[in-house]
Amino acid sequence: MHDMAASGVVVVMGTGGTIAGLSSTGLDQDYKAAQLGVAELVTAVPALAGQPIEAQQVAQLDSKDMGWAVWRALMQAVSDTLARPEVDAVVITHGSDTLEETAWLLHLLLSPTKPVVLTAAMRPASSAEADGPRNLADAVSVARWAAAQVLAGVVAVLHGQVWSGTDVRKVHSWHIDAFDGGGALPLAQVADGQVVATPDALWVPPRGQWLPAMGALDQLPRVEIITSHADADGALVDAMLAAWTASDARRLRGLVVACTGHGTWHRDLEPALLRARRAGVVVWRGSRVARGGVESRPDDTWPVAGRLTPAQARVVLAITLALRDLG
Ligand code: ASP
Repeated sequence: MHDMAASGVVVVMGTGGTIAGLSSTGLDQDYKAAQLGVAELVTAVPALAGQPIEAQQVAQLDSKDMGWAVWRALMQAVSDTLARPEVDAVVITHGSDTLEETAWLLHLLLSPTKPVVLTAAMRPASSAEADGPRNLADAVSVARWAAAQVLAGVVAVLHGQVWSGTDVRKVHSWHIDAFDGGGALPLAQVADGQVVATPDALWVPPRGQWLPAMGALDQLPRVEIITSHADADGALVDAMLAAWTASDARRLRGLVVACTGHGTWHRDLEPALLRARRAGVVVWRGSRVARGGVESRPDDTWPVAGRLTPAQARVVLAITLALRDLG
């Protein structure tokens, strides 16, 4: 257990989401995300009063609409902010819908020597049962705790649990306890502002670097997700190949298949996937099943997405292709 003595500055960056949402009718189901500014979110949490915290509004959107333009602004803001010596950590308030994608983006492109902590909420700020204030207070506690221990990298703090940014995923569409690690244990728990680490939990070290060339990129390479299911065939894949010609800058570069079970797909889908592969499209196998992912086997002829959700795998493949293009 560790005390949360305030040390350096924690910068809280707002991007919108339900955590900043308001209901005009008083009903939790009937609200608009991304209404309150991040400074208001910070002020609303008594536990944060008097702490050295800076609020920075980077975007204001429902994260279902997340995309490269916001990601690029966020990457630049996080990267610039972490470079300031007085800053100990960055906390990002985010919508829950695409949090797992942003977490992977940050993980792939940042090489922070400081913690980057994502948080969200399942109830709007106007709710009598708003979970945002506690999540934000916990996120700042975890940020300070991790900084004090020189733990770096991307984590998510939700409902009293700390997840590695590489594991976290949304697993319930409306429960307040909506996230887990896809089978991985939480890195730590937070109760009453105290952080208790899970013994032997591994903080995945930072891995990437925010290259100026990425900042100049207008769009990520197009990587789409398709699902294998009963009656599936290759019509969608063929339509995608036909829709974007090889000379099109937004042509199909990658496909993540949300496969059945442990990485299988309908036999009628395979011919189109082979055509896509021959056309230079990178095809990865993920799983539409919530836990376990797809492990690689020695006789694999199609690459696997490992434990990544299809949405996470899409980000990883798009960034990989973008970095490859940049040489
Ligand atoms: N649609 C919202 C968002 O992701 C949901 C949430 O934040 O819980 O922005």
